[in-house]
Amino acid sequence: MEIAALIVAAGRGTRATGGEGDGPRAPKQYAEIGRRSVLHHAVEAFAGSEAIHSILVVIHADDDEAYSNAIRHLSPAARGKLREPVAGGATRQASVLAGLEGLQRLAAPAGVLIHDAARPWVNTDVIARVAAAVVRGTGAVAALPVADTLKKEGADGTIEATVERQGLWRAQTPQGFPFPAILAAHRRAASAGRTDFTDDAAIAEWAGLPVRLVAGAARNDKITTAEDLAMARLQFGAQGPAMVPLSGIGFDVHRLTEGDHVWLCGVKIAHTHGLLGHSDADVGLHALTDAILGAIGDGDIGQHFPPSDPKWKGAASVRFLADAARRVEARGGRIVNVDVMLMCEAPKVGPHREAMRAVIAETLGLGMARVGVKATTTEGLGFTGRREGIAALATVSLLMPE
Ligand code: MG
Repeated sequence: MEIAALIVAAGRGTRATGGEGDGPRAPKQYAEIGRRSVLHHAVEAFAGSEAIHSILVVIHADDDEAYSNAIRHLSPAARGKLREPVAGGATRQASVLAGLEGLQRLAAPAGVLIHDAARPWVNTDVIARVAAAVVRGTGAVAALPVADTLKKEGADGTIEATVERQGLWRAQTPQGFPFPAILAAHRRAASAGRTDFTDDAAIAEWAGLPVRLVAGAARNDKITTAEDLAMARLQFGAQGPAMVPLSGIGFDVHRLTEGDHVWLCGVKIAHTHGLLGHSDADVGLHALTDAILGAIGDGDIGQHFPPSDPKWKGAASVRFLADAARRVEARGGRIVNVDVMLMCEAPKVGPHREAMRAVIAETLGLGMARVGVKATTTEGLGFTGRREGIAALATVSLLMPE
């Protein structure tokens, strides 16, 4: 049975990110936990479930850019299931309806699980329980029995009564339903002018659909306040993957030939000669790219960008460097620092050193303090000393999930 996940991320809630009184801040679904957005974690949770075949996110019409940033690091599995986002409406209820209509236009699934983006820690067990109820033809809500004693406040601020908590549950999401039934219920509610429902189960109940309660999870509580967000970050820090340090080394040489400039570490420098090569022959960036590829055990620059391929003729070598950085990110790793050593008698590197560091820092998303560029002559010795070529050596340190 085809089941889609509909993740509602159109809210403007900035209470968790400190938006009130303090200028505009990102809504909480775009806040980061462990270098990934809250929305990213929610999408990955559904992508990791075998019960879910496709994922559609409802976003605010102003959030196209925030959305593309938020999903930049998704796994290939998540990218495979994710559909183009749909713009939401003025209320959560309107946003869910917009999402359901979006699914209907795509290819109506048999079932749908509707989920709040601000619950990033939903797990595959909870998703499976809700999905299983939908497969059996009913609605289902992830929920937890109320554990605290409930009090009803009287008019004077004192307790009027203790409420029997037996049989009371706190509703979470996901909430799952047979797709045609929940779409029809939402359409009916909208045309009846009913906009006061606080969750989708309430609309289903109103429409007469049976809805079961299935076990949710304490960790699946919603991120609402700044304290919730801080707690979520702590939990993630404690439970995120252990990172191991890795290092890599790269070396490259290009021959000097006729010409009037060289490219070194992404900077074009006027010179009495040029460097011979298929691409821009940037020996510094080639050594650095190889160092990164070496650290993650992913071949070398010649394998990914073969000189035999005319596509790379004259190519700017920052593209090779950016590609290596993407390979690190795709594996969940991050570069800690890099160091490049250029070996030549000329041109002088000193005047260009800061520009070179800036290009590398920007390409790799590193602070300048994490980027070293140095140069040395070889005292007139060897091929670099005879000005026959320029050599470069590079090292990188990075952190990768264990
Ligand atoms: Mg090279």
